[in-house]
Amino acid sequence: MYNTFMPKNPPPPRIHILAKPSGATCNLACSYCFFLDKELLYPNSKFRMSDEVLEAYIRQLIESHRSTEVTVAWQGGEPTLMGVDFFRKAIAYQEKYRKPGMTFENTMQTNATLLNDEWCEFLKENNYLLGVSLDGPQHLHDAHRVDKGGKGTFDKVMRGVRLLQKHGVEFNILTTVNRLNGDYPREIYQFLRDEVGTTWIQFIPVIERINPDGFNIYNVGDTVTERSVRPEQFGRFLIQVFDEWIHHDVGEMFIQTFEAAARRWMGMPSGMCVFEETCGLGLALEHNGDLYSCDHFVEPDFLLGNIQEEHMIELVASDRQVKFGLDKRDSLPQYCLDCEVRFACHGECPKNRFIETPSGEPGLNYLCAGYKGFFHRVNEPYKILSMLLRSGRPAEDVMAIVNQREAHFPQAFAKAKADDPCPCGSEMAFKHCHGWKPAAARGRHKSGKSASGPRPSVRGALLSESKS
Ligand code: SF4
Ligand code: SF4
Repeated sequence: MYNTFMPKNPPPPRIHILAKPSGATCNLACSYCFFLDKELLYPNSKFRMSDEVLEAYIRQLIESHRSTEVTVAWQGGEPTLMGVDFFRKAIAYQEKYRKPGMTFENTMQTNATLLNDEWCEFLKENNYLLGVSLDGPQHLHDAHRVDKGGKGTFDKVMRGVRLLQKHGVEFNILTTVNRLNGDYPREIYQFLRDEVGTTWIQFIPVIERINPDGFNIYNVGDTVTERSVRPEQFGRFLIQVFDEWIHHDVGEMFIQTFEAAARRWMGMPSGMCVFEETCGLGLALEHNGDLYSCDHFVEPDFLLGNIQEEHMIELVASDRQVKFGLDKRDSLPQYCLDCEVRFACHGECPKNRFIETPSGEPGLNYLCAGYKGFFHRVNEPYKILSMLLRSGRPAEDVMAIVNQREAHFPQAFAKAKADDPCPCGSEMAFKHCHGWKPAAARGRHKSGKSASGPRPSVRGALLSESKS
């Protein structure tokens, strides 16, 4: 038992592990799913977490926590392939090993297509928070999120969403932003808000690097597939959703990236590893007990060990993992060190740092241009928001002030020239920001291999909390 030893480095009070009980296997075949290639890491495996690994995982997770709140997060592949009884056992092990005063948050990222009444009753009873993958309205979702026969899955996902709503199961929506749907920010946001009826959204950029071997076991190379979102496109996507949100929906809608940025403007931790200075506390557990540094680095070089051979906390607090987390800070190029929005961005995720800075230094984030634009755009509204929150006013008061301050935007946009800095404050060229027009050729998307992946669902929001 962990209580009988201490790891060499001081262990963190809390850790977040994304467990993949069915490994990379999935009932669907979304064209950009980066995890499907990971099946190659475990040839001949049945990809089902055994009872022994499950028990060891829950026990060690509890033993590893010095805080009383423990998150048990399931992801895939598709975790519902395990069947509901597997998760009943997970709850039973939580009860078996629970420390006094300990509470559990159970979360699951799912495509929602296998949900039924039995599932939803279980999820509700155990207060699960679900993250449902949905890429927007049908014409955008079905372009990439297809079943193994190549058929769109929109109807099945929506069926699952309606079941969750019928049973009162808490869920949020995870939308991956790719080169196709990246041109439809407002349509997607309005669809999720008005037709799906969600109040919680995560936007995750699709970035697929083209590997010479055609597979994606390793992240290598500096070119991306035609499905990958473009840097400015992702920034513009966030900015256009932000425009809608900051004018109409503050306090009503929760968008993870906006929440994280608001926290940074308030001087608080962002709550998203990608925007923190260092990382290393969000690991990935494979079906067989193998623990990896991060679910974005399920690669042989980042395998820390197996929890059936070494206790999880020893692996989490190992020199290797500590270095992994510190490297996020220590490998930043000078361009980032000099960047005025570094406090909010911190060079984003190391997985995406594969381009060169303007001076030729390696290690710049592929999405830099987009994030720079987004963080500059939110600067003025978030200065106002911070001031309001610090003086005890509700977050939604920001809307009236911003609406007034930005009332001149339409006239300013009408006068702006293509290469001028955008009047919205993003510092992006007007033609890439509010002056951008969709090209007729957009909508092409060819097949390729693998991509970026989802991050865990979150519950608890600065901006939502501020409402009460
Ligand atoms: S590598 Fe990226 S996704 Fe993984 S913990 Fe670090 S910042 Fe987060
Ligand atoms: S916006 Fe670009 S330069 Fe600034 S910290 Fe982020 S990646 Fe680095």
